[in-house]
Amino acid sequence: DNPIQRKPAWIRVKAPTSPIYRETQALMRDNKLVTVCEEAACPNIGECWSQRHATMMIMGDTCTRACSFCNVATGMPKPLDGDEPNRVADAVAKLGLRHVVITSVDRDDLPDGGAEHFAQTIRALRLAAPETTVEILTPDFLRKDGALEVVVAARPDVFNHNLETVPALYPTIRPGARYYHSLRLLDRVKQLDPSIFTKSGIMVGLGEKRIEVLQVMDDLRSAEVDFLTIGQYLQPTVKHAAVDRFVTPEEFEDYAKAARGKGFLLVSSTPLTRSSYHADRDFAALRDA
Ligand code: SF4
Ligand code: SF4
Repeated sequence: DNPIQRKPAWIRVKAPTSPIYRETQALMRDNKLVTVCEEAACPNIGECWSQRHATMMIMGDTCTRACSFCNVATGMPKPLDGDEPNRVADAVAKLGLRHVVITSVDRDDLPDGGAEHFAQTIRALRLAAPETTVEILTPDFLRKDGALEVVVAARPDVFNHNLETVPALYPTIRPGARYYHSLRLLDRVKQLDPSIFTKSGIMVGLGEKRIEVLQVMDDLRSAEVDFLTIGQYLQPTVKHAAVDRFVTPEEFEDYAKAARGKGFLLVSSTPLTRSSYHADRDFAALRDA
């Protein structure tokens, strides 16, 4: 077991209390939806849900992978729920969101990795909430030929796929995934449909070096990735990978400056940045610019 280190002062977050937080929670329950905010025990839940910004996780709460940083349960998932795309769309319409982020567990058990389910969810959202911009945060569709094309054809506004960490740490942190496969996936989205914004992110504090982070930025820009998120890794339980160190707010700002200099259109690099953190606000600002 890895003991959990005490968090520095800049990581502390407030407990959720607002009435809108509870409304968001009730809507997720009523529509029987799973959220990554809860499954990943995200520290921003109080802030995000108080603004109705919930990130739904489709295709169940059980993942076929076992990444050592992730709090989502691993095992054999249940069959897909064909009504889920409509319930997601209904919830998003009720929340009245300008921008929504939809993610999923990894479904290596499905022949298409869940690509068609993602596409159906996007189509349902377009019908129920035509004003809402849609960001999807997808698995890597490793060894699922044709899956990516199905998702891209449904035309999300933002296609997000996280590299999660630097390549040298893949064997310990993201076993089962391949760095260059994930990078190629992002590159391919742009080739298939240049009108879709692409986005990726990494966690820091896992033992990576600054020069490796800068190299990841260069790799992402070579794949024409538009948006970047960088946040502090937090250890969910003693069974998960240990935090190597807490990266300081100044170092996050240094990464942000470097990323902007390399040409990313949107950059979020703070200790509490998560893939979907402020995604609504940042994308709206870009759209209105
Ligand atoms: Fe949910 Fe993302 Fe906000 Fe965390 S940062 S609470 S995962 S929307
Ligand atoms: Fe968690 Fe995603 Fe890894 Fe599954 S594939 S264990 S949901 S990070």
